[in-house]
Amino acid sequence: MTYSDFGNKFTRHAGITQLMDDLDEGIRAGDEMIMLGGGNPAQIPEMTEIFEQHLRTSLENSQLLNALCNYDAPQGNKAFISNLAHFFREQFHWDINEENIALTNGSQSAFFYLFNLFAGKGKNHKRVLFPLAPEYIGYEDSGINEDLFIGNKPSIEFLADRQFKYHVDFENLSLDESIGLICVSRPTNPTGNVITDHEIGKLSQLAKQHQIPLLIDNAYGLPFPNLVFTEQASPFWDDNTILCLSLSKLGLPGTRCGIVVAKPETIKAISNLSGIISLSPGSVGPALANEMLKDNSLLDASNNIIRPFYQHKSQQAMAWLQQAIPSSKFRIHKSEGAMFLWLWFEDLPISDKQLYQQLKQQGLLIVPGSYFFPGVSNNWRHTQECIRLNFAQSEANVKRGIEILASVVNPLLAE
Ligand code: PLP
Repeated sequence: MTYSDFGNKFTRHAGITQLMDDLDEGIRAGDEMIMLGGGNPAQIPEMTEIFEQHLRTSLENSQLLNALCNYDAPQGNKAFISNLAHFFREQFHWDINEENIALTNGSQSAFFYLFNLFAGKGKNHKRVLFPLAPEYIGYEDSGINEDLFIGNKPSIEFLADRQFKYHVDFENLSLDESIGLICVSRPTNPTGNVITDHEIGKLSQLAKQHQIPLLIDNAYGLPFPNLVFTEQASPFWDDNTILCLSLSKLGLPGTRCGIVVAKPETIKAISNLSGIISLSPGSVGPALANEMLKDNSLLDASNNIIRPFYQHKSQQAMAWLQQAIPSSKFRIHKSEGAMFLWLWFEDLPISDKQLYQQLKQQGLLIVPGSYFFPGVSNNWRHTQECIRLNFAQSEANVKRGIEILASVVNPLLAE
């Protein structure tokens, strides 16, 4: 089959496709595979109850049927957008209205639109800068043009208890006219890092100086779903910022609902793209979330159910790992948010991808760390010394997964 350049680029092997395939394969393998790989959120019983209750209400008042039976506008469901704008004004005093919000089919498709709006071939070839690699695996293959991303290596702060934290290395951040967009996930997938308010302030200033937008991927962030375990991070938006949110990590990935908050010009561009590519974003997520916004359960559940749930799981997994892998060459990134632990095995004698294969053979799925360094040269050994582990699964599975991990890496670290 002969494809176009676009066809060739989007049909070749991509890290994100392997991740989603593994997820599916693991689900089909049932109990034989411990899945600490993908980004599937946990099914929290209290959340399931809330979703069921709202689904029942929206069925009774016909909102759900209305959503199923109608196309929304390309910008997304007007009632939800209007309530969201009100919510952000009330919560954070952000100067926004309906013209500042668009919905997309998951935030993943918003990144595709945004990266290709602001980077790629044009008057000159612009790129997306990730100021703090490692960064989310889902960005890497989403450029229509090749060579779209530049990642900046972090500086590493060593902490007590074999922990560490990445910071933006501003001294070595090369930001010139070839950059069309700065993008950062906060909390960061894969590391669980939450970049500080100070770092966000500096990035925002740099973006303004260079007259390019700053994209903050808030899929795990405040105010919802609030998988943020540190008190030292405040939500941030101004009209040079593009803030992307999602319903997925609330526990609703199947609704495929992403939310973009940006200046009206950007929202118009997103709406145009949505119209052309998908006519309009799906309506079921907005219908459900609108009810949860109205009775405040969106915020209440994020603060009082979701955040404590994941924080507890993170602490538990951290303690089990520290106990199971005693080597001084083993370190864990400080867990400040999201649903992952980022594990670093310094001087690991095999690569992260070989480790992935060995663990898979033993019945454990994780994600090799080297997928998370888009635009960073793999000459840096560190890129092959890390793995990402999802701690959102059941206690028994996380515990068993850690046992398998320890049985494979302990002998390797002792070599
Ligand atoms: N951003 C980050 C950092 C993620 O980890 C994910 C999914 O895992 C997404 C965005 C995509 O979320 P959505 O389901 O809204 O497309």
